[in-house]
Amino acid sequence: MKQLELLKKHFGYDSFRPLQEQIINDVLDHKDLMVVMPTGGGKSMCFQLPSLMLDGITLVISPLIALMKDQVDSLKANGIHAGYFNSSQDSSQQQELIAALNSKSLKLLYVAPESIQLLQNYLQPKDVALIAVDEAHCISTWGHDFRPAYTQLTYLKKSFSQASMIALTATADRATREDIKKQLDISDAQEYVASFDRPNLTLEVRPGNNRLAQLRQFLKKYKDESGIIYCLSRKSCEKLADQLSGLGYSVAAYHAGLEHRFRESVQEQFIKDEIKIVCATIAFGMGIDKSNVRFVIHYNMPKNIEGYYQEIGRAGRDGADSNALLFHSYADVIQLRNFAMDSGNSEVQIAKLERMKQFAEALTCRRRMLLSYFNEYLDTDCGNCDVCLNKPDFFDATVLAQKALSAVYRMKEQASLNLLIDVLRGAQNATVIESGFQTIKTYGAGKDISWNNWQQYIIQLINQGLLEIAFHEYNHLKLTPQAQAVLFENQPVQLAVIPKPEELAARKSAVEQLPSDVNKELYEALRKLRMQLASQKNLAPYMVFSDVTLKDIAARIPLDKEEFEDITGVGAHKLEIYASDFLSLTQEYKMMRTSDFVYRVATSSPKKKKTPKTDTVFESVQMYWDGKTVEEIAIIRELKEDTILGHLSKRYISHKDVDISPYINISDVENIESKYDLFKEHNALKPLYEHFKGSYSYGILRLAITLIEANVKAI
Ligand code: ADP
Ligand code: MG
Repeated sequence: MKQLELLKKHFGYDSFRPLQEQIINDVLDHKDLMVVMPTGGGKSMCFQLPSLMLDGITLVISPLIALMKDQVDSLKANGIHAGYFNSSQDSSQQQELIAALNSKSLKLLYVAPESIQLLQNYLQPKDVALIAVDEAHCISTWGHDFRPAYTQLTYLKKSFSQASMIALTATADRATREDIKKQLDISDAQEYVASFDRPNLTLEVRPGNNRLAQLRQFLKKYKDESGIIYCLSRKSCEKLADQLSGLGYSVAAYHAGLEHRFRESVQEQFIKDEIKIVCATIAFGMGIDKSNVRFVIHYNMPKNIEGYYQEIGRAGRDGADSNALLFHSYADVIQLRNFAMDSGNSEVQIAKLERMKQFAEALTCRRRMLLSYFNEYLDTDCGNCDVCLNKPDFFDATVLAQKALSAVYRMKEQASLNLLIDVLRGAQNATVIESGFQTIKTYGAGKDISWNNWQQYIIQLINQGLLEIAFHEYNHLKLTPQAQAVLFENQPVQLAVIPKPEELAARKSAVEQLPSDVNKELYEALRKLRMQLASQKNLAPYMVFSDVTLKDIAARIPLDKEEFEDITGVGAHKLEIYASDFLSLTQEYKMMRTSDFVYRVATSSPKKKKTPKTDTVFESVQMYWDGKTVEEIAIIRELKEDTILGHLSKRYISHKDVDISPYINISDVENIESKYDLFKEHNALKPLYEHFKGSYSYGILRLAITLIEANVKAI
């Protein structure tokens, strides 16, 4: 079949993901479509593959510049002619693109919504075969991420009347879908809504006490792998990043309070596997298509299931096993509740938070619960969440429950959860004494149970509907009608045994180990090789090969080109470029004893194809990445510091993966900016240099101009 052949040839994949094939066939039939697929479901393929078969260009509207560059780089890495057009490019890059358009050689063109009008001067409507609107929810004010520039897309269908249109998004309920179709003028478009299940994500929830220790335990399983840790506040992002960095992890913080340039550089380094872990607020992730994120951790509880689901969706896009870990703490819930109360539609938000909390406290299959939220129902338990993997033991907790419920009763339902526990445990703190509850009969009746365990048990009682939190009454606990039966009719209560911390740490997790058929030593060596090749080619490692491909190589150990071609993710283009490097590794592995192989890989310096002498910029940049200062680099390379600053500026312009801001202070930038016109007029630094009478060196002037221009052009 033609489509399948192309899938293998260009992308290296053997089969379609659910719905891809039907969608692609419809696109080839020139139908308008509305596609909803979860993150990582493979939406891009739905227009990328047809673009290779259509007569004419495929326009892809994409909201984020970083995402655009990423996708185009990935396509190019597969030998597909693609380009992008946005305001971050300088005029020579734009000219180059326009030349490519004129020669009609481009298959795919990514465009920012803001730039679409500009582009119309260079595009003949008849040359456009397909328009793909990615992240289409941005067009709808009903969607969660409305972008004004997207409303300009309303005219696309009129301007390019011959082209068919496909709108794609990961989040759109029925109302949003209707709105998207209406606005894009494709009201009759056929809808495809894929399953939201992501079976390769292991779902785990753990109690949020001692998070850092739990985190360290968890990270042992993910040595050198990429992951995102979501925190509630900017401050907690920074604190956690500091703590982890102090423990030797490769980590950075990311939140909206950081300088734009710095954030971009964190993102870029994360994409390239140069930073492994990012501690972020939910501002992070939208612009990232990185396929090898192996874990997403919620250090704090998300405020609703939609957000949670979208965030965990950023793990495991490549389809390889990945982990979504959520820390659940009562304190977070209270805090989120307070936020919700202060917001506009607090009732809805509180109800959503309640669902989130129920999910976190579930004693039944989490995936079933999660999917049911999106009106999708599984017939069986998933077998890949912590509940399924560790079916809890239950015990007869009737007496324990009676103690708690009776204390609530005797305190006239005027105590919060914390106070209840204090009273049960016979605490003598000020709150207890002031309340006078030390005189009730159940005071101290639960001394034998630890504070934390009481908390867990009471949450279970709440979950079972025996207690309610009166959120509008200072979070006091109230008895429900069912509680009466337990208190006065001796109705039995079963509670789940709380796992001990060491049991929690030893809990079965589906991703603890790579599957046993994977040769771990070979896999590690393959990763190392991938990193070397990526840095030579200036690509993100996952663009060389995904984790899934490396795992497949490690499992099957191909020894010649034919066998290598069979590996998932190896298409014709990558076969040509990479087969020999990877095959020499697999052959070596096959021939040597494992221990010798490990020794060989560890001791050999990378087989560097020397960077050409002419790439003097990159030589400085590599030293910078090695942690050397500008001064040191200048000494080693026997160049002027100014020259090195110039190199870093150049690199910043082309890749944004070095941080140049520390070398200059803001007031100097502002000072130079006030005379920016002098530079602009002559497109040379000399007039500036002369104006400031030499008080700024050429290197500093170059830095300032770079920063000024980056700022001007940033969207
Ligand atoms: P989405 O845009 O839906 O979030 P992407 O289009 O970025 O997802 O695809 C996620 C990953 O899945 C990418 O690495 C892509 O190469 C891969 N992928 C897409 N289609 C297939 C397929 N048929 N087989 C294997 N991998 C695929
Ligand atoms: Mg996508």
